[in-house]
This record gives sequence, C-alpha cells and structure tokens, in this order.
Amino acid sequence: MSSSVQSLTVLGATGSIGQNTLDVVARHPERYRVFALTAARQVDTLFEQCRRHRPRYAVMVDRDSAAALRARVREAGLATEVLDGPQALCAVSEAPEVDAVMAAIVGAAGLAPSLAAARAGKKLLLANKEALVVGGELFLEAVRSGGATLLPIDSEHSAVFQSLPDDASTWERRVDKIVLTASGGPFRTRDPDTLANVTPEQACAHPNWVMGRKISVDSATMMNKALEVIEARYLFGLPPERIEVVIHPQSVVHSMVQYRDGSVVAQLGTPDMRVPIAYGLAWPERIASGAAPLDFLALGALTFEAADARRFPGLPLAWAALRAPSGTTAVLNAANEEAVAAFLDGRLRFDRIHAVNAETLQDVLPSKPGSLDDLLLLDEQARVRARHVIQRWQA
Ligand code: NAD
Ligand code: MG
Repeated sequence: MSSSVQSLTVLGATGSIGQNTLDVVARHPERYRVFALTAARQVDTLFEQCRRHRPRYAVMVDRDSAAALRARVREAGLATEVLDGPQALCAVSEAPEVDAVMAAIVGAAGLAPSLAAARAGKKLLLANKEALVVGGELFLEAVRSGGATLLPIDSEHSAVFQSLPDDASTWERRVDKIVLTASGGPFRTRDPDTLANVTPEQACAHPNWVMGRKISVDSATMMNKALEVIEARYLFGLPPERIEVVIHPQSVVHSMVQYRDGSVVAQLGTPDMRVPIAYGLAWPERIASGAAPLDFLALGALTFEAADARRFPGLPLAWAALRAPSGTTAVLNAANEEAVAAFLDGRLRFDRIHAVNAETLQDVLPSKPGSLDDLLLLDEQARVRARHVIQRWQA
C-alpha cells in the first residue's frame, strides 16, 4: 500500500482537524489524492479547499450551502461534483474508490458516515470521538465485520497506540494501565467558585491547542477527557478501572502505558495535531507532519497533578457510564452535546453543563441498542430530556 497513491475522504474538512489533515496531505502529493471533502455549511472554506485539492466530490450537508458551492465550483471551471444532504456523507465514505476516511465531523452527526466507512472496510482515521462513544460495541462490530482498520487520531489515543506492542492480543496480559494526560484546560487554576460566570470566549481560549468550539468547551469542563476515557476503553479493550487520567499542563507527554513490570512507555511531542494525523495517514510508516520538533532544553520541566473533583465534576461520569448498561455512554454524549450548545448560545451557565449531564444520565435508561436506528433513537431521547433540564436551569 505504501508505494501506491491513497485515495482519501475527509469528513469535516473545514474544521480544525480537517484543515490540519489537508495541510499534511499537501506535503505528500505522491502519497495522497483527495477523493471527497465534506462540511456542514462553510461555503467559502470548502470552495477554497476544492480549488486547492481538486476532489472528485464535495459534500455540503446544508442544501442551500450546497447550491451556493455548486455555483462557485461551476464558475471556477472545477470538475468537482457537489452533493448535498447527510446521506451523501455515507456515500463518499463507503465508495469503492476510497482507501482511507478521516472522520473529523464533530459530535454524533459523524456516527453514520463513520459506520459506513467501517462496514466498507476502509482505513478509518478516527478524530470524531463522539462517534465511538455513541456507537460503542456496535461501532467495533462494524469495524470487525467490515474488515476495517481503525486508527486513533485523538492525540492521547494515538500516543497510547504508539506506546503499545503491535500484537493487540497481548495488551490485556502485558499492560497494567493506560494513563491519559489532560492539560486541565483554561480553568485549571481558576477559583471554582467563579466558574458560574465564565463566557464562551473564555472557555474556548485553550492554553495549548487551537480547536473547534465544542471540543474547547469540553476541555474546559474536562468532559473531553471523560469522552476520551470511554474512547480508550473501546479502542484498547482494557476495563475502565485500568484507565487513569492525570493532569499535565504542558501537553508534551500525550499519554502513557504502564506495563506489568512497572515500565512506563510514553509518546511525546509538541502539541500539534498534525503529528497524530500524519501518524494515522502513513501508518505503519512515518512521514513528515510539518510540526516543530520538541526542544527539551527550552521545555524545562514537565509537571503532573491530580484532577480536582470539585472543579471537574464531569470526569467521573466516564467510569460511571462505562459500568452502566450499554447505551449509557450514548446518553452521556447526547446530554453533553446539548448542554455545550446551550452554553455556547448563552442559554446555560458554564457550571450547569455538569448538572444537565448528570440529570440526563439519571433519567434516561437505555435498553441495549442493537442497531444504528436504536442508537439514533436513544440519542434523540436523551437530547429531548437534556433540553428539558436545560430549560429548567435557564433563568
Ligand atoms: P470543528 O468544529 O473545527 O469542525 C467540525 C467539522 O464538522 C466542520 O467541517 C463542520 O462543517 C463539520 N460538521 C459540523 N456539524 C456537522 C453535521 N451536523 N454534519 C456534518 N458535518 C458537520 O471541530 P474539530 O475541532 O475539528 O473537531 C472534530 C472532531 O475531532 C471532534 O469530534 C473532536 O472531538 C475531535 N478532535 C479534535 C481535536 C482538535 O485539535 N481540534 C483533537 C482531538 C479530537
Ligand atoms: Mg484528545
């Protein structure tokens, strides 16, 4: 595979991960060809990307945006065909011409196309952690039955994957625990009593990473780490009690694996998503990512501290949801998506995101989802419940 050109679909191309992916791809034109680019509604950005990368297809979920893009593409004389609607996301993920799919849509909206890629046996580069948190065992089953290769793009999970031995059948036996690092986000040292009044702009001002707004808020509440604990459980198969979180404000150690003999293997690098993206794209090879090398002398100290339960009450929900009946992680994700959207909209106080998540988890009891439709129904039920809780907290 390494000598031939790989044909790539980028779901969520206009976002932070999508743009970083295209940056890496553009450095290696002999290796990658862009088959399809997708976005929700960012016409200008997707048009520029079409001009630069000449995909066979561009998908806009929003139909008016698709019409606008179609007109611009035609006017510019590009050969790209513009498709619209959520179904088209699946079509460009499972198309026979596609070798690899970068799943970089934000939220549960990315589940269906990620599953389509898994079932079609693609190399699936998973940034869209919510898809795995919602899909759970069903997602893994689709990967197995489709013969897909699932590669984590989330920096922590890429780090764990890089620190594990190749033979997955030995992980359970050799590994004591996985330690996920967390930066602690913008409020790591802020007085927890003042969290009621923080604004979306303050919550999105991450100290180490530039990311989309949803994941930025998740980093500020540490719900991002809660989702990552769930993601790690599904990706690596260790029981939840063998997954730990430690705060590491410099974001240089991207995560670690502790082995039975006490040895710890970690992956380090500058906080730049192009590193795990390049790793996933080229795996099992290594290619240039464009990231600056680590400068140990400039770094000075690497520090570690415990996550404060009063400041980050959402983090323990990960283990609670993993111990509850299957489907519970989907409920947690749906509640959190609704709560974060309400916070970004100015309809919910920052410190009440947790209340919405905890209450929704208590109220919505899943009955073992067995299909994508079951999951989507459960997701909708949880959202309805969460919106209700949000309304009550509004005032
Ligand atoms: P973003 O908000 O910057 O981009 C999201 C992309 O998804 C955009 O292209 C948008 O058009 C598209 N999109 C949004 N809603 C959609 C919908 N309903 N249907 C179809 N497409 C839709 O987000 P991001 O920061 O790039 O994050 C993307 C995913 O990667 C998230 O799941 C996030 O948790 C994960 N991730 C991001 C980072 C990072 O550094 N940004 C790191 C690790 C993991
Ligand atoms: Mg991460």
